[in-house]
Amino acid sequence: MDTQCISCTGTLEIPADSYQGEIVSCPGCAAELEIHSMDPVELALAPEPEEDWGE
Ligand SMILES: [Zn+2]
Repeated sequence: MDTQCISCTGTLEIPADSYQGEIVSCPGCAAELEIHSMDPVELALAPEPEEDWGE
C-alpha cells in the first residue's frame, strides 16, 4: 500500500505484509521510518542509533 513519507512527503510504498514496528526506508529521502501502526498506516521517524560517547 502507499502512504506518505513524513520526512519528504513523497509517496512511500509499504509492503502489505509489513508489520508494526518494522523499519522502512524512504527511497526519496532515505529517511528511516518506523511503522507505528498498520491500519491506518502511521509512520514515525525511526530513532537514530545513538552514539555511545563514553568517557
Ligand atoms: Zn522521504
